[in-house]
Order: sequence, then C-alpha cells, then structure tokens
Amino acid sequence: MFERRITRSVDVGGVRVGAGAPISVQSMTTTKTADVEATLEQIYSLAGAGAEIVRCTCNDLAAAEGLARIIPRSPVPIVADIHFQYRLALAALDAGVACLRLNPGNIRKAQHIKAVASEARDRGVPIRIGVNAGSLDPEIEEKFGVTPTALVESAKRELGYFEEIGFDEVKISVKASDVRLMVDAYRMLADAVEFPLHLGVTEAGPPPAGILKATAGIATLLNEGIGDTIRYSLTSDPVEEARAGRQLLEALGLRQRSSLDLIACPSCGRAEVDVISIAAMAQEALENLNLPIQVAVMGCVVNGPGEAKSADLGIAAGRQRGHLFVRGQVVKVVPESEMVEALVDWAKKISSEGVDGALAAADESAAAEAEADRQALLELQGEDANQAEELVRMIRKR
Ligand code: SF4
Repeated sequence: MFERRITRSVDVGGVRVGAGAPISVQSMTTTKTADVEATLEQIYSLAGAGAEIVRCTCNDLAAAEGLARIIPRSPVPIVADIHFQYRLALAALDAGVACLRLNPGNIRKAQHIKAVASEARDRGVPIRIGVNAGSLDPEIEEKFGVTPTALVESAKRELGYFEEIGFDEVKISVKASDVRLMVDAYRMLADAVEFPLHLGVTEAGPPPAGILKATAGIATLLNEGIGDTIRYSLTSDPVEEARAGRQLLEALGLRQRSSLDLIACPSCGRAEVDVISIAAMAQEALENLNLPIQVAVMGCVVNGPGEAKSADLGIAAGRQRGHLFVRGQVVKVVPESEMVEALVDWAKKISSEGVDGALAAADESAAAEAEADRQALLELQGEDANQAEELVRMIRKR
C-alpha cells in the first residue's frame, strides 16, 4: 500500500473523502440536468460502473429544479457544478445537493463566494474549490501566468474567503489538461494545505489518449500518496470515466477488485492462436458475469501458464487445444474452439466453489496431457520461436 498524505476529511452525502478513507471515484453526467429521467438513468449506469459520487451541472433554474427531483432517487451523492452564477449555487443547496463545486475563476466577487459558503456552512454541505488552468481568474493569470503557483494561489484566495466566515468543509482540485502542470500544481497544493484533494486531468480528450493522459497525471500523484478522490475527464460515454477510475484504483491496489480483471499476453512468434480475438471474446463473455476474478488469456502453453500463475483462472493455447489452469495448475484440456466457453464455465465454478473447489474438480489426466503438449511444442519450435538466429543471418547478408 502507498503511504497516503494525511488530510482532513469531508463528508459528501455519506461518502467520506480524505483522512485515509478509501479513494473514491467520481464522474459527471452529460445529460441536461432538467431532464430528470435521462439524468437518473445515466447516474444509475455510472454507479453500476463504479462511480461513488456523481456531479451534475446546475447551469440554470430548470437544472436546479431537476436536482431537487433527482437527489431523492439517486443511488449516490450528487454534487452540483457551478460556474458564473452564485445564485445557482444557492438554488442547488436548496435542492439538497451533497456538495457544491465552485470555480473560483468565474465566480469572483468576495460577497458572492461568502454568501454561498455561509449557506453551505449552515447546511453542513462541503464545497470543492475547483480551479482549472483554462479558466483562471484573469488577475491571477496576469500576475503568475498559467503556472502551478497560479492554480494554487487561486485555491488559496478562495480558502481565504471561506476562512473569513468560518467555513472549512472543503476539498480542492487544481486541474489542467497539461499533465506536467497538473502534477506540479497538486504537489505544491499538497504541501500548502491539509484539505483533501480531488484529482483530475481536465479535458483529457477521447480514449485511448485521454485515458493515458489522465492516468499519467492521476497515477503519478496517487503513487506519491496525494489524492483522495478522482475523476477521469474523458470525451466519451461517462461510464468509461467511472470504469477507468475504478480500474486504476484496483490496478494500484488501492481498492479491492470488484469486477473482472482480464490479463492477456501481447502475443509473439510462439503464439498458437489469435490471442487478440480470443482475449476480446473472453472479455465480452466474462464481463457480464460481474465476477471479481483475474483471468489470463495466453498465446502459448510454453510460457503462458507459468507467466500467469497468479491469475485465478487462465487458458493457454497449444496444438489446437486450450490448457485451462487455476492459479497456475492445469485443470482441464479442451479443444481450441471451446476455449472461451471453458473459461466461462470455470469462472462460474470458481465463483460458486472457490479456488480450492475448482482445483479439486481438476481432470486427473489434464496435467500430464498438458505437459506432453508443452514438451512436443518445445521440441518442434526449439527454444527460439522467433527464429532470431535466422533473422540475424538475413540481416548480415544485406
Ligand atoms: S511466449 Fe507465449 S505467452 Fe508469451 S507472449 Fe509469446 S505467445 Fe504469449
């Protein structure tokens, strides 16, 4: 586990953020908030994909009215996203939101900010100070440029207003679409304040590049113990954001696995099957089972079972057959055409009987059959399936 930065905490509608609480996953709806049914449908999809807090825009009074109807039916706490109009923050508080997000770059008047913070304080609702590099207060930008210092100064100025009215239920983000800027700003902020931090690379763009950029920023900081809640900002179905957030936390060991983790070898000259399509078929077939297990798809029996021995379940191809293994132990040998089907059957078996139950159900002859296939392939291919010596000879001839 990572040693996490010690922070204060806030309660976002029952989800604790900071002070060592599990790092939570957030996402944001893309529907019109006034469209209550469409927004609720998306919130349910996001919650199903791993989002624990969902933000909705509150950009007009119809949206605030929508929030009032959404909140009692939502499975997760709702945050209202506020830009420009402080009165909409007050309307969102009236609607019963669990948290507000204020952008200090576009709600700048001290009396407006303090009016919102006073109301939030009286209602016990936290506020995220959501600084964005793309919408900095012009005065701050002129003084500091678009720099980590500018982002942190913007957050500190807002904190100053909050302090004046005795409000400290705060979490902070300093997002940028430039990963280096974002990372440096969060590091600086983490040294300056004790409030919990909401991490994100803003406007990361469509996947896969967007996921890479967001992961580069968020994972770098999480590895340093910085960050208490995260959001992937992708130009895509927000369900992908929630899924990516959840998967990142699971990959870093910061949350328990809650769904399928499919690992697969990248394939090479030894591969006995089309690993890419088998892995895709397995992903599709297993994903719907919603089982929190790790499954490996490996292209050859020579290296596959060994390399994926920590997986709960796996399959490796060889001589038109699939060697099915549980935690590295071969339990069954099946025809190549039945590899995916076998994975599904044994995933269900592990789910109902546990790993030990599955191991106890192993075919007695499976291990010997598998070893015979493996030896036969080794003899056929030799140690160098990529024929490196031959290639080196060809290169030298040129
Ligand atoms: S050696 Fe086998 S398991 Fe490893 S990448 Fe090649 S095909 Fe996949």
